[in-house]
Amino acid sequence: MSSTVPLMPNTDALWMPFTANRQFKAAPRLLVSASGMYYRSLDGHEVLDGTAGLWCVNAGHCRAEIAEAIARQSRELDYAPGFQMGHPLAFEAAARLVRLMPAGMDRIFFTSSGSESADTALKIALAYHRARGEAQRMRFIGRERGYHGVGFGGISVGGIGANRKTFAANLMPGVDHLPHTHDLSQAAFSRGQPAWGAHLADHLERLVMLHDASTIAGVIVEPLAGSGGVLVPPRGYLERLRALCDRYGLLLIFDEVITAFGRLGAATASEYFGVTPDIITLAKAISNAAVPLGAVVVKRALYDTVISAASPDAIELFHGYTYSAHPLAMAAAIATLQLYEREQLFARARSLAAQFENAAHALRGAAHVRDIRNLGLMAGIELEPLPSQPGARGYEVFLRCLERGVLVRYTGDTLAFSPPLIIEPAQIEQLFGTLAETLQSIS
Ligand code: PLP
Repeated sequence: MSSTVPLMPNTDALWMPFTANRQFKAAPRLLVSASGMYYRSLDGHEVLDGTAGLWCVNAGHCRAEIAEAIARQSRELDYAPGFQMGHPLAFEAAARLVRLMPAGMDRIFFTSSGSESADTALKIALAYHRARGEAQRMRFIGRERGYHGVGFGGISVGGIGANRKTFAANLMPGVDHLPHTHDLSQAAFSRGQPAWGAHLADHLERLVMLHDASTIAGVIVEPLAGSGGVLVPPRGYLERLRALCDRYGLLLIFDEVITAFGRLGAATASEYFGVTPDIITLAKAISNAAVPLGAVVVKRALYDTVISAASPDAIELFHGYTYSAHPLAMAAAIATLQLYEREQLFARARSLAAQFENAAHALRGAAHVRDIRNLGLMAGIELEPLPSQPGARGYEVFLRCLERGVLVRYTGDTLAFSPPLIIEPAQIEQLFGTLAETLQSIS
């Protein structure tokens, strides 16, 4: 970490994302360096990273192997066009990624973010149906409280009101939503997958009756919803979605932007739950977040269908980004995947999951706590909101934990925990112990 003390910058020029700009700029919180499990703040404090950045730094911060791979690549080939040209690392990264994906899901399209991955997945689903002669299948089914990034496609199938309302008139047409699976009267304080709620998948049947299967391209859900408040799928729920998609010829898209790469103790949530979708979206931990990167993984049959529908010399899919398979991102991804394998980090997450669950659920009965939910190295602790101030208590706890040297994330009044997979058992205790102290200290 740097030994020089950075100065507080002038904050005026930057429009910050998903941030209360005026509130932040009145008392800025700046991070200036990081290593392993810790950030260092501008005022020189160590901060334990309880959130892996934004659910993305799964191997811990500033890993030398990844930094070196990026630096080397930036000197050798900084950029190469990805349209009608290629470079070897793009093919190598795709081949490595395939090894972690469910059997048969072995074609990869690179993007630069989770939002781009979500929109790309929707476009691939449409292209697939069109290639099979069912171009009228244009409708998508998302889910309430779902988060699929901030592109117009992603917010349309997403189910978070605040992200949609400003843009309501311009959302994608032809989208409907499944109900979310959160019900405290039925499943509060579940450890792992709730026993209640599989029947909620049957709403898909209702939507199929309403719209007719012949108009629906696919269903997109996060196998475990993160940004909507850490909502663990009820036992049997994903299996039922899969069965209904099969029955009605709908593509099942799993948005695994936060669940892939070890978060649940397996390479993907699909593997963890034993449910294979048709398309998987990835981003974040794919490159340990060291360089922006996303990907869409598709079953080979989908790829083959789209490719073979075009004439042999034609571009088969009119879609792509300047930064698809960017050389620096490819170098970062390869180094990251090697690191996950060398350090067996997915297995490590699996082995820590029971302690993590116990530490989280030890807060049952603590002041203001009304639910605790968890799976793998992911937990959500939902607080009683302050009367008529939704989110205010979550924000206060976030601030007070930060003062105590621990970074947690809050979405509304739910605190989300998703530390790097290198976390030590004592740091798990510190994470939840700090929250316990904080909850006791606030009114
Ligand atoms: N999909 C899911 C499930 C996510 O959690 C996120 C981000 O948190 C996204 C998509 C969007 O990713 P990005 O912010 O990289 O566009």
